Amino acid sequence: MIEIDGSAGEGGGQVLRTSLALSIVTRQPFRLFNIRAGREKPGLGKQHLACVRAAQQVSNADVTGDEIGSRDLAFAPQGIYPGKYRFSVGSAGSASLVLQTVLYPLLHADSESHVSVEGGTHNAWAPPLDFLLHSFLPVVARAGIEVELRAERLGFFPAGGGEIHAQIQPWTVRERLKLHERGVVALAAVAYVANLPENVGERELGIIGRALNVSDLRQERPRGLGPGNAVCVFARGEHITEVVTAFGKRGKAAETVAKEAVREMKTYLKSEAPVGEHLADQLLLPMALGAGGSFTTLKPTLHTTTNIETIRRFLDVEIDIAEHDGAWRVTVAP
Ligand code: ATP
Repeated sequence: MIEIDGSAGEGGGQVLRTSLALSIVTRQPFRLFNIRAGREKPGLGKQHLACVRAAQQVSNADVTGDEIGSRDLAFAPQGIYPGKYRFSVGSAGSASLVLQTVLYPLLHADSESHVSVEGGTHNAWAPPLDFLLHSFLPVVARAGIEVELRAERLGFFPAGGGEIHAQIQPWTVRERLKLHERGVVALAAVAYVANLPENVGERELGIIGRALNVSDLRQERPRGLGPGNAVCVFARGEHITEVVTAFGKRGKAAETVAKEAVREMKTYLKSEAPVGEHLADQLLLPMALGAGGSFTTLKPTLHTTTNIETIRRFLDVEIDIAEHDGAWRVTVAP
């Protein structure tokens, strides 16, 4: 039984998701204690419990400690069972994070799977749908990972109510990833405005358009539960797309939302690194489980370094981070 201290490093939900995924793929049971000790409300939240339940189902695992607020979990997978699954976060919690938890196990299955997840599609502190579709999936596709993802409905904080569907093929050919250049970049932005006045999106796009000199601006007014608001700014490079997202909430001005997105995109554009801070921590697993490779990124976050430590507990893999002139090169050698 691998023992993992959930308070180490970032002390958040990612150590749980990475442990669940790698436990199933490597067939090693684990115990996680001090779950999310670094967070204001420690222990398993709804979204984390949804990840545990999803992981339990695809691996028929024996689990103890799977309840809201639990700070101690034991998980022993029995196998990997591809098929049709339907998971629900039961709140506006991120559907993407549930999908990413079961993705790696199901990639290691011997036939395809269909996974539906109900929850939020655009959540703060989680990969929004646009990020998965335009940044994460196209990159991991180059490592040989075949996933078709579509949204049935979008879901925003606080109501949720979104639904995504993923078709996951067994991972047969593993390719090395090399991501060191962006190529020529074109910018674009989309404002999602659900059950809120149109001028929310107009104000956001106006600020983004002026601050970043972007003319490809689009407002989408999704139906469904709301109110909700998110803006995504895309840097579409020849070799990679970065998506930064800022989220609206009650009492937060549209201008503040837009400025957050502008600031994050400016940080990305100022550096020459192709891999943004979020993609960096999310590429470690597909590279460690695949054929490895290397990428150039911004200064690694605590999420990235914590994820590296968690991966090392399950896999015999060399992950190296080196700085060259303000850019960081991450190399993964399984
Ligand atoms: P906790 O509730 O404990 O904070 P969590 O389950 O929300 O945990 P984290 O450990 O914070 O999870 O991990 C969040 C994951 O979502 C990380 O992989 C991070 O890179 C990703 N992420 C967060 N914000 C974005 C964003 N704007 N775009 C893309 N990915 C994001």
